[in-house]
Parts: sequence; structure tokens; C-alpha cells
Amino acid sequence: MAFSFFNTLGREKTTFNPLQEGKVGFYGCGPTVYNYAHIGNLRAYVLHDILVRSLRRAGYEVNHVMNITDVGHLSDDADSGEDKMIKSAEERGKSVLEIADFYTKAFFNDMDRMNITRPTVICKATEHISEMIELIQKIEKNGYAYFAGGNLYFDISKFPAYGELAMLKLDDLKAGARIEQDENKHNPGDFVLWFTKSKFEKQSLVWDSPWGRGYPGWHIECSAMSMKYLGEKFDIHAGGIDHIPVHHTNEIAQSEAATGKKPWVSYWLHNEFLVMDKGKMSKSSGKFLTLQALVDEGFDPLDYRYFLLGGHYRSQLAFSMESLQGARNSRKSLSDKIRALAAKCGNSAGSTITGSQEGINRYIEGFNRAIEDDLNTPRALAELWGLLKEGFASPETLAAVYDMDKILGLRLEDSGNNAENEELSREIEALITKRAEAKKAKDFTTADKIRQSLKERGIILEDGSSGTVWRQISL
Ligand code: AMP
Ligand code: ZN
Repeated sequence: MAFSFFNTLGREKTTFNPLQEGKVGFYGCGPTVYNYAHIGNLRAYVLHDILVRSLRRAGYEVNHVMNITDVGHLSDDADSGEDKMIKSAEERGKSVLEIADFYTKAFFNDMDRMNITRPTVICKATEHISEMIELIQKIEKNGYAYFAGGNLYFDISKFPAYGELAMLKLDDLKAGARIEQDENKHNPGDFVLWFTKSKFEKQSLVWDSPWGRGYPGWHIECSAMSMKYLGEKFDIHAGGIDHIPVHHTNEIAQSEAATGKKPWVSYWLHNEFLVMDKGKMSKSSGKFLTLQALVDEGFDPLDYRYFLLGGHYRSQLAFSMESLQGARNSRKSLSDKIRALAAKCGNSAGSTITGSQEGINRYIEGFNRAIEDDLNTPRALAELWGLLKEGFASPETLAAVYDMDKILGLRLEDSGNNAENEELSREIEALITKRAEAKKAKDFTTADKIRQSLKERGIILEDGSSGTVWRQISL
């Protein structure tokens, strides 16, 4: 497959060519573990998952690295505001590491429930302080850093390409100088590589360094850890669009200043926001929805995954419970169709095999083209639906559906197997009971409606002396 991705660096769709044939190095910025991930954050990780699954299905060996930020991230992505981890620990009466541990576990629980593939390498910032110090030393040796007021800063004026990713000009940065100005900075856009003069008296996590006891600035962890696991240059880096102007801009400056190799990363992919009530969902505002909140409303995490796949990652996506309900209904009819297809394929006695391989291939190709074209999941889903609506009945059709699901990750195989059938049995048994109760109350309209709606799904009810039994037929 020939992928093309919209590269934020240069703002155009370009053909994907990895540095090493057949291999891809991918770094996706991970969570800051001071609170639960919100469903907007999960949009970012579903994009990473779709990317990794697509590349692997196409035969690439993908090394996927994700960081866990457990130190140094201030509430403003630049150097102002409060330390997110410390604030959370204080509020909850716990240590920073206890908070980090608790929310890291909660994060991976959400990832599993969303069927997001685990990264190959998961690395914690606090376990890579020596790598960060080494990298900062290189930056300093190459003349890009200065020490002022107890902190070590990156001097953006020494790095002419600063702001290329965000298409920022140095003058814009000066004009947009932040309200909480740090007097030690030579330029408003300079950022801290290493803090020794903590603004926070209760800074519990500190390490010795050539610049004194202290802790790293936030951005350096991604430069240090990505290079440790993927080399000084690698293929793809991803994150939400909020990371373009500060975090990723600073990561590039640090990395290229340290190694002198440009470009540090070949392709930059950024997901747009999930919005609710016209505003960006954010953890720091405290107004956000978690995956668990959706589960508590009776949704399956995969309903939310389906909802996300219905939008292209570069478009803003408006979340509402109504649209999630729509996604749930679609996912349910998708499961029903696959279950019926699996039943037809498994029922050798009466089944007729229909549909040609060429007919199936048309949809597989359409699906592949959609994915290759900057991971267009809405179009890919439409191809899957197109195939199912053809009404082909053959094991090859089922195989094509499962193959598409290697990328979509909707656990479609479960729909064709017993686990899903058990769920179906439970649902039908409940409806049979409801029908019996309606009959007892002489509400024959409701009783007939239940029988009819099941019949439309290929479920036939038979009343006998020992109660009602059901059987499934091929539609
Ligand atoms: P954080 O844990 O705050 O560092 O964010 C984790 C990831 O979620 C980053 O890639 C962010 O850019 C991304 N992100 C944050 N808010 C949203 C949102 N509302 N919609 C989509 N992605 C988001
Ligand atoms: Zn990062």
C-alpha cells in the first residue's frame, strides 16, 4: 500500500517513505497522568492506533513509542502556570508518584476498553532523567542554551528554523508575549530545559544535574525518549493540534540543536479536537467526560470508537450523547449483519454461496485506497458497509470484513462468534419474557410487535407447551 499523509511540516499531503525500508519508527505524545484521560484525549490515541494498525496490516514493522508524563508539565504548555502533577497530588492528599501510578493504570484500562493496541515501548519521564540531562548537555555544548536566574533556557534566537512547524515568525512570538513573563528569558519564546529555582516550594521530585538540583522542563522528555528508542531521526510523530505551536515546536528545536540533523522527524500528524457545546474539551478546565461516564450511561467503549471513526482525524468532531447513540445504533446493525453473514456461512446445509471474489475485491480496494489517503476512516467505514449491503454470502466476504477490522478495531469477529451469540441470547430471552408478560396482560399489540421485530432480525419464536423457544434463520 502506498500511504500519503498530511504533513503538518509543510502543510501538504505527501507520499510516505520511511527512512528504512519496511520499518517505521513512530512516536506519539502520551498522557500527563494527573487525572483521568477525557474522551477528547482518547481521540488522539485512536488516531495513533489507526495509524499503527494500518502500517502493520500493510506489512511494516512498526516501533511505536509512547511517553507517560509524570513530571514537569505546567498547566500552560510553556513555562508558566502550576505543575499539573503537584497540584493534583496536593488536592488528593497523595504523593506525585501515587497519583501517576493510579492514573497510568486508569489510562491503560481505557485504552484496552477502546481496543487500542498497546505501544511497543511505554516510557515514563521520571525513569529517563539521565537521558534528558545528556541531551541538554549536547544542546548547551552546541551553544543553544543560557543559564539565568537559576534555570537553563533554550535560546530560540540561535535556532533560525524555530517555529517552522507552526509557521510562526519570531516577531509573532514577541508580539504574543505571555502575560506571566519570565524576566530571565532573553526572548519571550525561550523555554526552560532544566529548572533549579522551583516556583513550587513542595517540589518533591528533584534530581542532581550539572546545573544544580532540580527537574526537567516538559518538552525535553519527548526529545530524549524518542531518540533513545527510535534513533536520532525517525519517521512519524503525532499529537493533538494544541501541540503544534509550543510543545512540538520546542521538541524540534531541542532535538535538531542537539544532533545537528534535520529533519529530526519526517512526518508530523496532528489530530483536530473533539468539541462539546462548541468548546474544546480539556482536563485542566475540569469540564470533561471520561470513558467511564459513557459506560455509566450504558454505552460500550466501542460505540465511542465507532463514533470517532466516523470523522476524519483532521476535522473537528462535535460530541453529543445523541450522536453517540447514533453510533451505537450503527454498530449494532453492523454486528447484526455480520452475525447473520456468519450464520449463513456456517450453515452448510441450506446456505447458498453468493458473491464473486471480484465483487468483494472492489470493496477491499476501496477500503485500502481510503486508508492510504491520509487514514480516511469515514470512507473506509462506508466501504465496509457497501460490502455488507451487497448481501454476498460467502466465507470470503466474512474474511474481507475481518481483514478490514484489523484496522478499524471494532472487534467484528466477536459478532460472528459465540460470545456475541450469548449476548444475543440474553437479549432475546429478555424480549421473550416481556412478550409473555404482555400476553398475560392481554396487551397483544405489544406481544405481536416483539415477535415481528425479532422476525425482521431473522429470529423466529415458537410457542410450545413448555414455553417459547427461538431459532435463527438466514435472512
Ligand atoms: P494531555 O494528557 O493533556 O497531554 O493530552 C493528551 C493528548 O490529547 C494530546 O495529544 C493532546 O493534544 C490531545 N488532546 C487534548 N485535548 C483534546 C481534545 N479535546 N480533542 C482531541 N485531542 C485532544
Ligand atoms: Zn511530546
